[in-house]
Amino acid sequence: MELVVDFGVKKMEGEAVMRSNQTLICAPIMADSVDQMLILMQKAKSSGADLVEVRLDNLKSFNPRPDIDTLIRQSPLPTLFTYRPTWEGGQYAGDEMSRLDALRLAMELGADHIDVELKAIDEFNNVLRGNKSTKCKLIVSSHNYDSTPSAEDLGNLVAKIQASGADIVKFATTAQDITDVARVFQITVHSQVSGVPIIAMVMGEKGLMSRILCPKFGGYLTFGTLEVGKVSAPGQPTIENLLNLYNFRQLGPDTRIFGIIGKPVSHSKSPLLYNEAFRSVGFNGVYLHLLVDDVANFFQTYASLDFAGFSCTIPHKEAALDCCDEVDPTAKSIGAVNCIVRRPDGKLFGCNTDYVGAISAIEEALQGSQLSVSGSPLAGKLFVVIGAGGAGKALAYGAKEKGARVVIANRTYERARELADVVGAQALSLDELSNFHPENDMILANTTSIGMQPKVDDTPISKEALRYYSLVFDAVYTPKITRLLREAQENGAKVVTGVEMFIGQAYEQYERFTGLPAPKELFKNIMATY
Ligand code: NAP
Repeated sequence: MELVVDFGVKKMEGEAVMRSNQTLICAPIMADSVDQMLILMQKAKSSGADLVEVRLDNLKSFNPRPDIDTLIRQSPLPTLFTYRPTWEGGQYAGDEMSRLDALRLAMELGADHIDVELKAIDEFNNVLRGNKSTKCKLIVSSHNYDSTPSAEDLGNLVAKIQASGADIVKFATTAQDITDVARVFQITVHSQVSGVPIIAMVMGEKGLMSRILCPKFGGYLTFGTLEVGKVSAPGQPTIENLLNLYNFRQLGPDTRIFGIIGKPVSHSKSPLLYNEAFRSVGFNGVYLHLLVDDVANFFQTYASLDFAGFSCTIPHKEAALDCCDEVDPTAKSIGAVNCIVRRPDGKLFGCNTDYVGAISAIEEALQGSQLSVSGSPLAGKLFVVIGAGGAGKALAYGAKEKGARVVIANRTYERARELADVVGAQALSLDELSNFHPENDMILANTTSIGMQPKVDDTPISKEALRYYSLVFDAVYTPKITRLLREAQENGAKVVTGVEMFIGQAYEQYERFTGLPAPKELFKNIMATY
């Protein structure tokens, strides 16, 4: 049973929750030599980091006193020294006394922070013999590379770290599910109330929001890497993304959280679009990738007003509908939602903006060649939809509404049949599609993920069979021109890309999320670069 977390509760009760919006960005510095580390430190400063974490365990050769002295004196940013042993996930496999003595030396030589593992803190305190520097902040850390313990166990862990004499508490756990992060936010908020600075991270892609939302919940720092993939722990974002994608410096206690729920989801361009639009008008929101396994569990856990709106993609559009308190009638007919907004009373309202986005892009493309047509240019056309999932339903429903004769072809024939019965269409299996050409000038809409990165050589229909279509649409938008669209173009058909649908569906979502008009030109410009 997941606990429901209401992160706003303290504020609503009028208690003074001291949360800093000055959360630091710390760049892990991992290199073989001191010289390379000094270069990376400069890079960290120019990238916008506030401090550097010197990972001594990465050095291939290490002469403690001169090396630490050089690193402290020549660092352009405040320092944090970490000498992580293999038994806590680091690289150092040597003897414990030398390791702890190097950390003591870093403290003595003027490091701003040192990180000592909870498991080694008693020994370290013996090494210190009471000579703790007042300048250097002692971070006592604990890492769990398997899971995220219960809230009670995390609370006990934090109490133990505090009792060890830590100036700053640090723990990192591993997300098995995105709802694990809720417990960590809860602990972070409580630590702020008791005045103990805390660094609380959940590792892995499902823990990403723990790294981005620290300024909202009051974390002392987050880690940001200098390059994609050069991480010191799984799931760390780049400094570039923290600053320029997620608007990290602008986040604070009142920032509203939005995001795209999906699995997989990391490919989605939605955060690019919304965050830049939020920044352009000074809207206090952040939009995240949310890798969700179980939508019902997600909504049950993140039930506070802080979690204000969601886009929904593969494979959750249908399950998400059942989680809404109210659903727009069109979305109900389609049987799928792609946009969910939390109302001021906390209730979830779901709607479908895929339908408008895709159909209007197709209509526009058809209109170009048929200026004399009155009403929708789709009226009377034979419109073949490949796929019967969320996007397939939206396209089939939309085309039918516009007066097209709809055919649905799907890998699982029963799903095609079901949708065809609801919409009033003909059903085919995917295998039957190659020989289906009752007439020329048909319209084809691929709404499956076939052809999406990384499987860009896949296509749902042969080039030969494509000859009977005069317009081909592909919902896939990574890449923009899929193999399907390329072959359709080679056959002389008009094509409409998934990017056009993507932009169209995002306009309405943005307006529902913010209550502001969508910056249409900005959206088009951002997507033009992809
Ligand atoms: P969904 O609800 O999970 O439906 C997926 C559909 O694709 C199902 O009909 C499924 O068939 C079929 N399918 C999946 N893999 C297949 C394969 N290997 N071979 C044959 N059929 C396959 O997903 P969705 O939300 O509708 O999204 C579908 C695609 O549309 C995704 O690529 C998504 O990125 C894209 N999309 C784009 C936009 C946009 O704005 N451009 C908006 C929404 C969606 P079965 O029924 O047999 O499983």
